[in-house]
Amino acid sequence: MRASRFLIHTLRDTPADAVIASHRWMLRAGLIGKLGSGLYHLLPMGLRAFRKVENIIRDEMNRAGAVEFILPVLIPGELWEKSGRWKTMGKEMFRLQDRHETWNVLGPTHEESFTELMKGILKSYRDLPVTVYQIHTKFRDEIRPRFGVMRSREFVMKDAYSFHKDQASLEETYQRMRTAYRNIFSRLGLETIPVQADTGTMGGSASEEFMVPSEVGEETLLISEGGKYQSNQEKTPFVPGDPGESPVLVIEKKKLHTPGASTIEDVARLLGVDSVHFAKALLFQTEAGPALVFIRGDRQINEVKLKNALDGMDFRPASEAEATALGFVPGFMGPGNIPADVRVIRDPSIKPGRPYIVGAGERDYHESGVVFADSFTEKDVALAIAGDLSPMGDGTLRAVKGIEVGHIFQLGNKYSKAFNVSVLDETGRPLIPTMGCYGIGVQRTLAAVIEQNHDEKGIKWPVSASPFEVVLVSITRSDEEIALVESIHTELESAGVDVLWDDRDLRPGVKFADAEVIGYPVRITAGKNFFESGKLEIQVRATGETLESTPQDLLEVVGRLIGKSGQKPAEKRQAKAESPPKKSSEKASAGKKSGTKKK
Ligand code: ATP
Ligand code: MG
Repeated sequence: MRASRFLIHTLRDTPADAVIASHRWMLRAGLIGKLGSGLYHLLPMGLRAFRKVENIIRDEMNRAGAVEFILPVLIPGELWEKSGRWKTMGKEMFRLQDRHETWNVLGPTHEESFTELMKGILKSYRDLPVTVYQIHTKFRDEIRPRFGVMRSREFVMKDAYSFHKDQASLEETYQRMRTAYRNIFSRLGLETIPVQADTGTMGGSASEEFMVPSEVGEETLLISEGGKYQSNQEKTPFVPGDPGESPVLVIEKKKLHTPGASTIEDVARLLGVDSVHFAKALLFQTEAGPALVFIRGDRQINEVKLKNALDGMDFRPASEAEATALGFVPGFMGPGNIPADVRVIRDPSIKPGRPYIVGAGERDYHESGVVFADSFTEKDVALAIAGDLSPMGDGTLRAVKGIEVGHIFQLGNKYSKAFNVSVLDETGRPLIPTMGCYGIGVQRTLAAVIEQNHDEKGIKWPVSASPFEVVLVSITRSDEEIALVESIHTELESAGVDVLWDDRDLRPGVKFADAEVIGYPVRITAGKNFFESGKLEIQVRATGETLESTPQDLLEVVGRLIGKSGQKPAEKRQAKAESPPKKSSEKASAGKKSGTKKK
């Protein structure tokens, strides 16, 4: 490919909203362009890298025995009613009415569509197991689109779905997908940590996320000292440990005057009692009415766990006015006098039978010695944090930031049941298949590769994901010189090397800077030095290593650097090698050992 016929759109300045490296370099290297909030164009250079990632994913999916489809992005709302997710998907799902005033969805994921499709295809147990997938556009109206294509509103996902006659078969495919995921990420040179994850509104049981450890990751992973437990903080159970003996002040049943102290921190300070001896009451509003949550005073709510505890309903903190209208005194709420229509949840960090200090339900008063009845529904809604005990009992947990690039789920029969999927089993009786689903975000994976591979000058692509494997930068002064570089370019291309010839009429400094920002793994320079000495200069972007090669040895050297062997027949190579550089044919063909290190 000649750069003069391609499109290189590097930027000198970084747009202000690009705060993480991958976003910055994707813009600076001209891989993407911004259209609007969470909306990005893929420019030709970016598209090439995107295709490389996509093809690796496709290749591994096909190897794992999955079959590819393309389904409509626009999905009748009716299907979402059927699964029950019309209600639970919340505002993240784009919904639109067509001209007939029928509701449709811009697919955020495709369980409904694939289940409906497969219902018409699967007839017998002999059709199982089967894994289907697509690599296609998804829409999500993210509350905070950011970090460029890491969290955008339109993106491409590889989403796969599997159908099975029993759990054992599902588990086998789940493991096969796990292996495929590991292969995909390792081919991209990405270090990933698989962690246990929340199953959320998807339904189902087992679920793992593949996390790329990174300072800019939006996920917090909690990993146990002993290495037995690794999970997303969203999912980690809080192991309360032993909060120690209750002080006398907590045990005695008393009304405590706590003027102006409406937060746990204030009251704890005022009374000189550790916040672990308090039961905090938090009031939320949901579409099905108010919900009151009791949690240990030193703990925060895990919003994902709470959403699950509320059967997938969205929630928000109730306002003071709403609390007052229910007869509560904001800042002094406790377990006394709760109206019957308020749903109550007790986090297990509050132990029935143990005394706590709680709000007295009266302005400026708290109450000690209050013991919770176990009549309140117990649901784990506390956020586990670094330093907490491992649920596997192997020491404490430490926190690592990560980017979620992939997610695998055992779904069970939530969708197959909702859509009445049924096949005939060995004995001719109906069988409801059990399902799995498996996603990878293509752009997010690409961005994660850049997050892990860049320096202050730009991207340092691994060969597998680079828009081009090699850039051939020419600095020529005559048609003859151009013809010579062209022959090198042709030779590389016909040997199957993915090469961009930067033949643009620009200053060398500009071309070199572009090569660094874009970050091709290998740069070959054909400039003054080459036309004089017959030696091409070769630079390896990842290591900064510089080598020299004659045109004759170039294929071998480049092949070694990009991990490909020259695919060209030996005779042809020979013939090409016979057209030496203009000024110094002897030097060139004298052929010092190729690929020697220069520095
Ligand atoms: P997150 O927690 O980051 O919102 P998710 O749990 O909603 O992700 P899944 O529904 O499991 O994501 O989607 C599968 C994959 O799709 C993710 O692992 C990620 O790679 C990608 N993905 C999800 N949301 C986005 C987005 N807004 N922009 C880009 N990629 C995304
Ligand atoms: Mg999401």
